[in-house]
Amino acid sequence: MKALVTGTAGFIGSHLAERLVKDGATVIGIDSFADFYPRATKERNLAGLRGSAAFSLVESTLADARLSDLLEGVTHVFHLAAQAGVRKSWGQAFRVYTENNVDATQALLEACTGRPIERLVYASSSSVYGDSVELPMREDARLQPVSPYGVTKLAAEQLCYLYNVSYAVPTVALRFFTVYGPRQRPDMGFSRFLRAAARGETVTQFGDGRQTRDFTYVADVVAAMVAAAAHGRPGGVYNIGGGSRVELLAVFDLIRNLTGQPVRVEQTAARPGDMRDTYADTTRAKVDLAFAPDTTLEQGLRAQYEWMAAEHD
Ligand code: NAD
Repeated sequence: MKALVTGTAGFIGSHLAERLVKDGATVIGIDSFADFYPRATKERNLAGLRGSAAFSLVESTLADARLSDLLEGVTHVFHLAAQAGVRKSWGQAFRVYTENNVDATQALLEACTGRPIERLVYASSSSVYGDSVELPMREDARLQPVSPYGVTKLAAEQLCYLYNVSYAVPTVALRFFTVYGPRQRPDMGFSRFLRAAARGETVTQFGDGRQTRDFTYVADVVAAMVAAAAHGRPGGVYNIGGGSRVELLAVFDLIRNLTGQPVRVEQTAARPGDMRDTYADTTRAKVDLAFAPDTTLEQGLRAQYEWMAAEHD
């Protein structure tokens, strides 16, 4: 396998690139080091890859890169580059989301047309569902995102479908449900809660705490991407959820048990864009990809906590 991994310096992309190199692939990473969170954090994400002869990194946005050169000889594309974050996607910032999530995906797909690529695996999101679907969420549900971020992730997913149907680019979209584990982005819930507990700080809780999330451990997400690259149905869409759906308040209990410290919260209203519940029906991924997440929430949260403690030593 010769892989192009977009968003390699990020949370999930860096884990995926490590796994691919470990499996014997040659990996070209591309990342713009977007300033959504500090560059130093992304450099640390890359530390395990930097010394590897099988890994090279291009620092660029997808828009500015010479994609046709980068795709020379590439057999698999893993597209994770995106502007993440739900709450910040309103207002003026929306342009950042359309540029990095929609325009960048279209440029990549365009560059992939007519090439002998075996799969292009796209990192989609549970955010495409919104709040009006039945639980557990099935891939064929009516999609009505409740955040501008979700709209851009869905637009890019639709572009993947379109380039499959019209130009036979073998795209596979995976809808990730709240990914966590070592290197989780600093703006995400577990990162914020674990940090606050460790430092005795107060953290903002949006809403009543009864909202639920289906949490997915990062190594399970990586395994799903690897399986999708081999067996994903071109033009297909798969839910990737960890099967650990819990309320936010239960997460606080887990963190207290783990750290020995309470999570001090200041409650405020839920924000526009926040989904009430997420819960993946993963039957399709089980059948086609043999997807079987095997990290419990307790194990995964402990791994994230231990990583965080080591980082701040
Ligand atoms: P991340 O922010 O850590 O990683 C994304 C990386 O993409 C960053 O390093 C950023 O610098 C890079 N990037 C952004 N725009 C770029 C561009 N135009 N060109 C090149 N590089 C660019 O985010 P993450 O949490 O690792 O998420 C990875 C992917 O998975 C994203 O597509 C995200 O939408 C999707 N996803 C994540 C989650 C989750 O829970 N973390 C859930 C669902 C979907």
